[in-house]
Amino acid sequence: MVIKPRIRGFVCVTAHPDGCATHVREQIEYVKKQGPIKEGPKNVLVIGGSTGYGLSSRVAAAFGAGASTVGVFFERPSEKGRPASAGWYNSAAFEKAARADGLYAQSINGDAFSDEIKRETVELIRKDLGQIDLIVYSLASPRRTHPKTGETIKSVLKPVGEPFRNKSVDVDKEVVTEVGLEPATEEEIRGTVSVMGGEDWEMWIDAMEEGGVLAPGATTTAYSYIGPALTWPIYRDGTIGRAKSDLEHAADRIDARLKIDRGRAFVTVNKAVVTQASSAIPVVPLYISILFKVMKEKELHEGCIEQMHRLFSTQMYNERALDFDEAGRVRLDDLEMREDVQKEVAGLWEQVNTENLHKLTDIDGYKQDFLKLFGFGLPGVDYDADVDPDVRLQ
Ligand code: NAD
Repeated sequence: MVIKPRIRGFVCVTAHPDGCATHVREQIEYVKKQGPIKEGPKNVLVIGGSTGYGLSSRVAAAFGAGASTVGVFFERPSEKGRPASAGWYNSAAFEKAARADGLYAQSINGDAFSDEIKRETVELIRKDLGQIDLIVYSLASPRRTHPKTGETIKSVLKPVGEPFRNKSVDVDKEVVTEVGLEPATEEEIRGTVSVMGGEDWEMWIDAMEEGGVLAPGATTTAYSYIGPALTWPIYRDGTIGRAKSDLEHAADRIDARLKIDRGRAFVTVNKAVVTQASSAIPVVPLYISILFKVMKEKELHEGCIEQMHRLFSTQMYNERALDFDEAGRVRLDDLEMREDVQKEVAGLWEQVNTENLHKLTDIDGYKQDFLKLFGFGLPGVDYDADVDPDVRLQ
C-alpha cells in the first residue's frame, strides 16, 4: 500500500515503515560518528524504548556502547492492512540494525504498568542476559491500569490551583490561538501522579530485585522536564509537574536501596523536543517552535539522540562523577535554560501571532520533526511506492 500522513489533532494515525527505519538509521549513524562510549553499560533495559527519548537511549546504549538491550513498549502492529504505529516500525528497524552489528536486541510489546509484563521481562533477562546494569525509565502515557487495584487511571495536563490562559499554536492550521484551562480536581492530580509519577518505576525495581536480575552497581534513571516560567503553570506547577516531583521522591528511595550495592538512581532533566508526548501539551508546541529558532540560530540545537548521547558519554559513563544540580538531578537542559536563550525566547513569545508565526518561530522545523516521528519527510524514501505495512518484530 501507499502510506501518507493522516493527522488528527496532535497525532498522526499512520506511520511509514521505510521512513521510520530511515529515522532510526539516522540516529544510529549519529551515534556511530561520535565514536565509542568507553566503559559504557553492558546490559540495558529501556522501559518506553520505542519512540522519543527512550528509543534514543536504546540507540545510544547499543550503538555507542555495544550494549545488549531489552526494549519494553506499547505499540500497535499492522492489522487488516492498516499501518502499524511508528514505535513498532522503529523497534523492528532497531532490532534489525542491532543484530546486523552482532548486538543482542529483544523487545517486549505490552503494558509496562502490568505485573505480567514485568514478570515476562524479568524472565527474558534471566534467560538471555542474567542481569541488567542500566534501567532507563522513559514512559509517557495518558493512562495506567493499576496492577493491584485493577482501576484504570487517567493522567491530565492541567494547571493546579488556578485557571491558566496563554498562547498556543494549532500546528496544522498554523494559527496562534489562546488556550484557557481550568485547574485540575484533586482526583485528576492524584491520577496524573499515579500514571506519570514514580510508583511504577519503583515497582520495576522491586520486580527486578526480587527476580535477581539487577546487577551490583546498577544505574537507573527516569526523565523529567522543568522549562521556563512561561510553561510553569501547565508544566512544572501543573498536574504533570506534581507527577515529576513524585518521580524525584521515587529516585531518592530507589537510590537509597541501590546504594547498598554501589548502585545509583536519579532523575535526568531533558530539553524540550518534539515527541508524541510533548505535542499533546497545550502551549508547549509554540514554545518549542520559538526555542528551536533561537537554539538553531545560536548553533545549540539538539534533538533526542544528541541529548541521549550526551547523557551517556558525558554524564553516566564518564570518569568524572555525575554533575548533579541542587536537587540531585542531572541537567541536560543546560543549553535550553541558558539566560541568553531564555531572554530571546521570552521576547519572541510576547510578540508572536498568526501573522508573524513563520518569521518569529521555527514552526516549519517543528512540523518537519513531527512528521519525522511517524516516518514522513525523510530523505531517500519513496513515499509514492507501494510498501508492505506488515513488518515483524523478531
Ligand atoms: P514518547 O511518547 O515518545 O514515548 C513514550 C514511550 O512510552 C513509548 O515507547 C511508548 O510505547 C511507551 N509507553 C506508553 N505507554 C506504555 C505502556 N502502558 N506500556 C509500555 N510502554 C508504554 O515520549 P517522550 O517525549 O520520549 O517521553 C519520555 C519521557 O521523557 C517522559 O517521562 C517525558 O516526560 C520525558 N521528557 C520529555 C520531553 C519532551 O520534550 N518530549 C522533555 C523532557 C522530558
